[in-house]
Amino acid sequence: MSQAEDIESVDEDGVIESVSGPVVTATDLDARMNDVVYVGDEGLMGEVIEIEGNLTTIQVYEETSGVAPGEPVENTGEPLSVDLGPGMLNAIYDGVQRPLDELEEKMGSAFLDRGVDAPGIDFEREWEFTPSVAEGEIVEPGDVIGKVPETASITHKVMVPPNYEGGEITSIETGEFTVDEVIAELDSGEEITMHQEWPVRRARPSDEKETPTEPLVSGQRILDGLFPIAKGGTAAIPGPFGSGKTVTQHQLAKWADADIVVYVGCGERGNEMTEVIEDFPELEDPKTGKPLMSRTCLIANTSNMPVAARESCIYTGITIAEYFRDMGYDVALMADSTSRWAEAMREISSRLEEMPGEEGYPAYLAARLSEFYERAGKFQLINGEEGSISVIGAVSPPGGDFSEPVTQNTLRIVKTFWALDADLAERRHFPSINWNESYSLYRQQLDPWFRENVAEDWPERRQWGVDVLDEEGELQEIVQLVGKDALPEDQQLTLEVARYLREAWLQQNAFHDVDTYCEPEKTYRMLGAIKTFNDEAFDALEAGVPVEEIQDVDAAPQLNRMGVADDWNEFIDELESDLKEQIRALY
Ligand code: ADP
Repeated sequence: MSQAEDIESVDEDGVIESVSGPVVTATDLDARMNDVVYVGDEGLMGEVIEIEGNLTTIQVYEETSGVAPGEPVENTGEPLSVDLGPGMLNAIYDGVQRPLDELEEKMGSAFLDRGVDAPGIDFEREWEFTPSVAEGEIVEPGDVIGKVPETASITHKVMVPPNYEGGEITSIETGEFTVDEVIAELDSGEEITMHQEWPVRRARPSDEKETPTEPLVSGQRILDGLFPIAKGGTAAIPGPFGSGKTVTQHQLAKWADADIVVYVGCGERGNEMTEVIEDFPELEDPKTGKPLMSRTCLIANTSNMPVAARESCIYTGITIAEYFRDMGYDVALMADSTSRWAEAMREISSRLEEMPGEEGYPAYLAARLSEFYERAGKFQLINGEEGSISVIGAVSPPGGDFSEPVTQNTLRIVKTFWALDADLAERRHFPSINWNESYSLYRQQLDPWFRENVAEDWPERRQWGVDVLDEEGELQEIVQLVGKDALPEDQQLTLEVARYLREAWLQQNAFHDVDTYCEPEKTYRMLGAIKTFNDEAFDALEAGVPVEEIQDVDAAPQLNRMGVADDWNEFIDELESDLKEQIRALY
């Protein structure tokens, strides 16, 4: 978070009038909406959220116990902003972009911080800057003027800030600089450093949104295969407690083929976030072999951190995502969970005694949610390049009831819906994404990509799988009434094929070294192997072979081993030829 540099220029301090949890009112404060203020003797960070006459209401991002009326409030005169520049990757921040490791150093504990400010990026570290434009060239806002090797896998692009005028470069440096040193000057008098600030509640500018046509490949079969999300798309994962939201979000953060991942842990239990913080630094990017953290920025705002910081962490996250998008990267932002964010809004709203809407949530809940998801998309950038932000929000409806306001309002906005299902989770079917309830509105627009990059008949093969699963759904109702054996043999066979679809294809073990990530080619071939079984089996049935005999061929259960097979291409080749041979031998 930015530190106010110019506090003197602002008028007199205000005086605290009342304190109610995270909400503090002050009198005599000369402030504008969304100004950042320092509250009380300890200087706790807060933000102005309401001004009525002489009374200013502030939400405070830190615990307010011990803060008393009469203490001063100091205005920084600046909106809540993030520091942008090299050094954000590999970092772990709290909800107002204070690096947790630095807080820990200053405070001895990451969770007991009060009145400590720390910049979001390191102002002392020097970075190797190599210009990509020369003196005399004209640059405009958003243009890249040079590069910094930020981490093992990501090159940071230094841009003309979007709120600059631009002009001719009169001087540009090469070498090692801190983020605050001037590396280029323009004839407009503007000076460029590697550091930008941006107010979190305002989207960074872009030219226009485009229709996304590439999938964000997740390596999860049910997602890539049935319910894909586009690069620049939006998805929601609602599910009751224990149904696999967090595991799904972690899988996406680990394996999604985004250039940059921003992971916002919002209000979930501290130990879950600890898991992320401990787990992630150990992981390798399957494509580059480099540490995954070198493309990741974590924002951790656990349930024991103050509620107002939980409200802001989503904005901090999306602003950081936009900054990397502006460099032309594909960014994926995961928010776990947007329900905790909405609850933070509800708590603050009730302290403000606003008129409550549905289930006590503020009336502006829907607007806030859509403002947030609106910041996702595939963008034509102001510098003419393209970049994208995909947003995936977990929703934790109390009791798993999808009719509650946060789930409902989210569903109206997002285009991909991965419905987690407590029954599936209970049966240990993971990922417990319900294939009947989930949907993706991107399927068709992504088909050309899958045709071109995986297999020409990708959509047809998928449709075959969908049809079998649909048919199983209908047959299950009959089975429940009369039992499986009462069904005609062809329907019994369909049930068997559907079982393999569920168990061998849809199920995927996040904790198995090989199965945890499944490339689209493997997803396609696994489905193909099950279809081979299906086609051979129906031919045999038609030739008069009893269904039991077909089901009992030795090779069939091998279908369940495809996911964990290391040399999957070879494994599937052999399996398909065994299936053909063994089933054909029956007649
Ligand atoms: P939630 O966040 O919805 O409360 P979690 O994501 O923590 O639920 O999942 C609960 C448990 O379910 C996990 O601890 C894990 O044992 C199991 N689980 C969920 N998804 C998978 C998966 N894809 N593979 C294996 N186990 C899973």
